[in-house]
Amino acid sequence: MSDIQSLLALQNDDLAIHELETRLAALEPRIRELDVRRQRIVDGLTRQSGLVAAEEKKQAFLRDKIEEHRGLIDRNQSQLDLVKTMRQATAAASQMEQAKQIVVSEESDLLVLNRKLEELRGVLHRAQADLVACEAEQETARTEVAADRAAIDGDLATAALQRTGTAEAVPVALRTRYDRIRNKKRVQVLVALNALACGACDTAIPMQRRHVMMSGTTIELCEVCGVLMYQPV
Ligand SMILES: [Zn+2]
Repeated sequence: MSDIQSLLALQNDDLAIHELETRLAALEPRIRELDVRRQRIVDGLTRQSGLVAAEEKKQAFLRDKIEEHRGLIDRNQSQLDLVKTMRQATAAASQMEQAKQIVVSEESDLLVLNRKLEELRGVLHRAQADLVACEAEQETARTEVAADRAAIDGDLATAALQRTGTAEAVPVALRTRYDRIRNKKRVQVLVALNALACGACDTAIPMQRRHVMMSGTTIELCEVCGVLMYQPV
């Protein structure tokens, strides 16, 4: 096998590896998208739990107040039974009336609060159900992504092993040259000449180098774009 052929074989292995790495990288946005969607529901759930807890606190406070004021009414009632004078009776009755009005207003506040809590809890339960549904739905997607990743990882291991074998056939100096030029963006390093011009940037080969290139056995560096060029035979 000529140097050109062995280097082309190595480049083919690298292109295959690059393709696998690209597919692997493409899985990341899929996972991110799943995470973002789930997190959005979790955030909403946390916010809603906070709202419900705050209103429950208000509700407990209001219930205590009502309890307290009802006790006051009961005590006023007992006092009213004990009063001797008309004046005392009027004072006690007025106090009791005030306490009753307070309780009425508090009970109406409690009703409003209960309705609000019911609504908030409804939203919370819907968010909880959304999370369960989301996780169930994502389980399939996550299993798929994990299976894809495992398959690609397996192919990559095989491809890397094959590349090691292929690389051994390429002379060390040429391999080093090739590896230096190759990077994540430039995966096509060894490029065929196209009508005596660089196949990558289309710059014409200088006259004095044409003859040696036409032999089909040399590899030359393109001075303009930096790829390695060869003449296909
Ligand atoms: Zn070029």
